[in-house]
Amino acid sequence: MGSREVIDLQGTHVTVAGLGVSGIPAAKVLHARGAHVTVVNDGDDARAREQAAELEALGVTVRLGDGATLPEGTDLVVTAPGWKPDKPLFTAARAAGVEIWGDVELAWRLRGPDAAPWLAITGTNGKTTTTQMLASILKAAGLRTAAVGNIGVSVLDAVLGDEQYDVLAVELSSYQLHWAPSVRAHSAAVLNLAPDHLDWHGSMEAYARDKGRVYEGNRVACVYNVADKATEDLVREADVEEGCRAIGFTLGTPGPSQLGVVEGILVDRAFVEDRHKNAQELAEVSDVNPPAPHNIANALAAAALARAFGVPARAVRDGLRDFTPDAHRIAHVADVGGVAYVDDSKATNTHAAEASLAAYESIVWIAGGLAKGATFDELVAKSAKRLRGAVLIGQDRALIREALARHAPEVPVVDLDRTDTGAMLAAVQEASRLAVAGDTVLLAPACASMDMFANYNKRGDAFAEAVRELGS
Ligand code: ADP
Repeated sequence: MGSREVIDLQGTHVTVAGLGVSGIPAAKVLHARGAHVTVVNDGDDARAREQAAELEALGVTVRLGDGATLPEGTDLVVTAPGWKPDKPLFTAARAAGVEIWGDVELAWRLRGPDAAPWLAITGTNGKTTTTQMLASILKAAGLRTAAVGNIGVSVLDAVLGDEQYDVLAVELSSYQLHWAPSVRAHSAAVLNLAPDHLDWHGSMEAYARDKGRVYEGNRVACVYNVADKATEDLVREADVEEGCRAIGFTLGTPGPSQLGVVEGILVDRAFVEDRHKNAQELAEVSDVNPPAPHNIANALAAAALARAFGVPARAVRDGLRDFTPDAHRIAHVADVGGVAYVDDSKATNTHAAEASLAAYESIVWIAGGLAKGATFDELVAKSAKRLRGAVLIGQDRALIREALARHAPEVPVVDLDRTDTGAMLAAVQEASRLAVAGDTVLLAPACASMDMFANYNKRGDAFAEAVRELGS
């Protein structure tokens, strides 16, 4: 399991950077372990004061309105994952030789000697889905498990709670990995790598390096995407335990040490005896919900990690059958007049939208929102032949319109110049006019939602509501 440092926090001075979903539980845990805890926070609003009061009542010191200065005598910094590495607080900590841990690192260091091993998943897109699929497969194998991490249940809660686990399915974001230097998974997967969060990491290289940390010290398998060479490169660069294997997943026919697809069957040529001659049937493509190509890739990655943990083939099939994706991820809303309406509001970047568009033959595409610095040329060029039409909404829609004009000039485009609450209904109505029977109207915005909606859930809800209105 890699080296284990037993840590005693009694009497140490720990600075927790950031109140919030990870900072508050971290402060409480550290305090309970006898550390002198100071929480520093940039904001000083009513909510922060309320949270501060709660912590202060326990005996934790809280400093609001100054997240930049390192408190004197700090032995360790525990940070919220989203804090950028170039913050002055961290510069000061590094200069003083003080270690900086994220919430995941803290969980890793505090877990007990009999703690469950981790099967870790990262990647630009598909993390949540794959982690949930994996947990479903592990459950089908009768193992005590949970999907945790960047997914709703904090790793800290899972590791320190009363529940006993045999194995954890852990989703890790690039931020969490950045701040988790000593985490050593049993096995791990990087699903794919596309530019995202580059303002935070500083460069694509730094982003890839942080993702690649998930492979460090793996014991059994490093799972990579055969179609995405960057993920394989990360395996090659990783320092793993002796005997750890590189396992590829592919939508094509798998080679030895790979999982893939043969005539509609998910097959394993990695965790079988004599992999040069044999293959093990795991499940049918139709067992994957929804059976879109990118989601089959997710299922293969989940299966690879489960098989690395010794799960039988039957459990892979049962776990995939039991799995239902979270809302707004390629969710089929309704058929109206022979046209399918699909909500992939979670496609908030171009890489996700590209996967989504690749899943349908003839599409009226509803897109737009906040572009977060993205460009759309590649996405539009790759998807042009599938587009019956496009309806654009949101603040940065001109960027998509221009890309369509460059790469798909024959595709009819409706540019909706409104951001009011009724805009989605108008978008769906316009899309229904462009669509013909057999088409899919696909909400895959390739953009964030916050210009028009509170979040991507609300955007997807508005779409579903508009489709219902259309059908009534
Ligand atoms: P994450 O947790 O990484 O954000 P999700 O599982 O929530 O990933 O999926 C987010 C979106 O990414 C989906 O709605 C879909 O559009 C897209 N997506 C899912 N899996 C993949 C994949 N393997 N490759 C590319 N895009 C994907």
